[in-house]
Amino acid sequence: MIYLDNNATTRVAPEVLDAMKPYLGEFFGNPSSAHTLGREMKRAIEHSREQVASLIGATDPGEIVFTSCGSESDNWAIRGVLATRPSSKHIVTTLVEHEAVRNLCRLLENDGYEVTWLDVDRNGELDLDSLRDALRPDTALVSTMLANNETGVLFPIEDIGRIVRENSDAVFHVDGVQAVGKVPIGLKNTAVDLFALSGHKFHAPQGIGALYIRRGISLSPLIIGGAQEEGRRAGTSAVPNIVGLGAACRLALEDDDHARIEQLRNLLEDEILKRIPNTRLNGVADRSKRLPNTSNISFEYVDGQNILLHLDQAGISVSTGSACHSTTHESSPTLRAMNVPFTAAQGSIRFSLGRYNTEAEIETTLSVLPEIVAKLAAMSPYEQLR
Ligand code: PLP
Repeated sequence: MIYLDNNATTRVAPEVLDAMKPYLGEFFGNPSSAHTLGREMKRAIEHSREQVASLIGATDPGEIVFTSCGSESDNWAIRGVLATRPSSKHIVTTLVEHEAVRNLCRLLENDGYEVTWLDVDRNGELDLDSLRDALRPDTALVSTMLANNETGVLFPIEDIGRIVRENSDAVFHVDGVQAVGKVPIGLKNTAVDLFALSGHKFHAPQGIGALYIRRGISLSPLIIGGAQEEGRRAGTSAVPNIVGLGAACRLALEDDDHARIEQLRNLLEDEILKRIPNTRLNGVADRSKRLPNTSNISFEYVDGQNILLHLDQAGISVSTGSACHSTTHESSPTLRAMNVPFTAAQGSIRFSLGRYNTEAEIETTLSVLPEIVAKLAAMSPYEQLR
């Protein structure tokens, strides 16, 4: 199988699995227990906390709290801030956030919050003046992503943070889920207050995430119960997963493979755009403003779901940029916000590479894709729209 869907999830790295194994066997204690076994579990958690802090450039490990996933981290950040600021009812976010942020903010609109939805341009980039204009004395929270999951477009979180800090009292939350492990991150000298990450996006197992909470930021807990995580997040710690997350952070720092992955991504992207007619890149052309592993490409007048299925039959896994339901074809909110025309949005495919991809796999993909697209284009229901 040729796996080009690393933004959906990644394979657990062998190094991560090796680090986890003892904690799925002999080390099975509850980290809250006072005995030797419990203390060993606690020690392992604190070691992982240091590894996470070091990957994202936190000031100290006490700023990291373990959660179950990126969605929990995002939900906690947003609800936790709002709970501490009951008289501030305004939120600023963007139209291209992941559902974990977007759907929660939609829900909050029904609960009496006012949300300013910042738009993006056709490249998927934010207009920082519109952010400045949106900030108000009653803005409780600004929430933006660092890297878009569909296009890989990076938002300039240092600039955003500076604008938020200079023009409001709002807390600044960043959804960093797609960026961690793919680009260098240093939160220490930024105005980022909260930062969500998720292990399964960079070779830790599914079911483990973390939230960075800058020292001095007060956040109400989301999960109430025991005193785990210094009373900030209740629930018996998932020690094997936490150890896995720490090991994945160490791997990302010490065995960074980004340059090679970027070369393969560039090869795939350049050759698709060159060899296949009616293709267009979704996302800013300047590659320094995108994740090094992601290419979102539209095959105009062709159905992306059909491309996905044909590639799957050829043993190649990708994602579409559209959410296809059985009766309706709805293009992704991200591509809609970028004003990608319907016939192009329907035919968008996200290729997301990772550390186990090889040049031979990219060559194989490039050898089968043109034929698949040509065949589908010839029988396209959108042909008459050309
Ligand atoms: N935020 C972004 C940008 C994502 O891409 C994802 C997952 O795809 C999430 C949040 C949610 O993370 P998780 O799957 O760990 O809940």
